[in-house]
Amino acid sequence: KLYNQVQDLKGSIRVYCRVRPFLPGQTSVLTTVDHIEESTISIATPSKYGKEGRKSFTFNKVFGPSASQEAVFSDTQPLIRSVLDGYNVCIFAYGQTGSGKTFTMMGPNELTEESLGVNYRALSDLFHLSKIRNSSQDGINVPDATLVPVSTTSDVISLMNLGQKNRAVSATAMNDRSSRSHSCLTVHVQGRDLTSGATLRGSMHLVDLAGSERVDKSEVTGDRLKEAQHINKSLSALGDVIASLSQKNNHIPYRNSKLTQLLQDSLGGQAKTLMFIHISPEVDTLGETLSTLKFAERVA
Ligand code: ADP
Ligand code: MG
Repeated sequence: KLYNQVQDLKGSIRVYCRVRPFLPGQTSVLTTVDHIEESTISIATPSKYGKEGRKSFTFNKVFGPSASQEAVFSDTQPLIRSVLDGYNVCIFAYGQTGSGKTFTMMGPNELTEESLGVNYRALSDLFHLSKIRNSSQDGINVPDATLVPVSTTSDVISLMNLGQKNRAVSATAMNDRSSRSHSCLTVHVQGRDLTSGATLRGSMHLVDLAGSERVDKSEVTGDRLKEAQHINKSLSALGDVIASLSQKNNHIPYRNSKLTQLLQDSLGGQAKTLMFIHISPEVDTLGETLSTLKFAERVA
């Protein structure tokens, strides 16, 4: 194995949590976050949520509002590097709209070197580590997806920009459409084990999930409601699959959603999964924050 640091990852499913800072211009806003430690986040809850007024959750890692993109990446780097050892790696960004999923995975709208998200850093890391040779077209099983051979980080960046543009096109057609779809960047890596000569095939899926917020049935109707119910269904199906994997159940319910069907080969078995949940700090999002934390607690 080329990258032995991967061996010290316990289990194949990890959960990270990141809390978004307040946004510029937000002043004297109340926060739900009581305090944060290395791997614990504690939420202040009003009495209706429990008598203690505080609820704590423990994950593999918790990033506070001031965590840098670099710090976040350095904790995901060993996982990403295991792709080169032939592992399938899935990273899911989960949380309500506005909680920072895209910021973690891509970065802010105006990218600077410092603010580059996980996917840019992951790609350039992989390209730096391996002498890449051009690959040929391979089978592809995702409808409307394109498999494109790449040889540099900037090839990938242009591809990702194209993907984002396609996503943004629908945003004008339907209000904030981009938060109502999953976006997935998949990278296939094939290499040769230098000692045994065996061929290693790894894959990495970086998934910016649709917003997890519950829709208010009184506010949306028709297609919009159907779409929202569909998203909620696919997110809970994903939760069911990861929870079954982490409990090492015999039956894993992959077939309950498109998303889990598409990722079936990359979830479970020798795969490594990171569920990266995102939290908005504002008090008025407490309900969604607690439901995100409970989702994560279930898959951990
Ligand atoms: P989501 O993809 O979950 O809907 P975004 O990533 O678009 O949320 O984040 C919402 C807003 O908050 C954006 O303006 C984004 O730049 C900002 N933001 C999110 N996370 C952070 C962070 N960790 N630091 C600074 N700004 C952030
Ligand atoms: Mg987003």
